[in-house]
Amino acid sequence: MKKLITKKDLILLFVVLVAGVIGIILINSADTGKCAEIIIDGKTTEIISLDETCEKQVNGVVISCEDGEIFIKESDCPDKVCVRSGRISKSDESIICAPNRVAVKIDGKKGSLPDAMTG
Ligand SMILES: [Zn+2]
Repeated sequence: MKKLITKKDLILLFVVLVAGVIGIILINSADTGKCAEIIIDGKTTEIISLDETCEKQVNGVVISCEDGEIFIKESDCPDKVCVRSGRISKSDESIICAPNRVAVKIDGKKGSLPDAMTG
């Protein structure tokens, strides 16, 4: 016996989908990263707590952290894309300075390493 999808099934499917999306949004918004990884040449060299105010110089890039946000303050690279990237504070956001091979990535989950450097 072949059963057709009824309107009720569609509503149920819709509710499940919406609940899933809301769940993802809630997880993401609750998970505002508290740590940032400094990645040089694809390797995490340092993990900085965003609760602290700090300034670090690596590979010609000055990384600054304040008010729960991290950003590249100065860089000797020619394009300054990293400096113009502005401040980041949410999980999985990142700033990459390709010429200097430096990346800053917010990580809510401590200990997980990024697979690869993009850009
Ligand atoms: Zn740069």
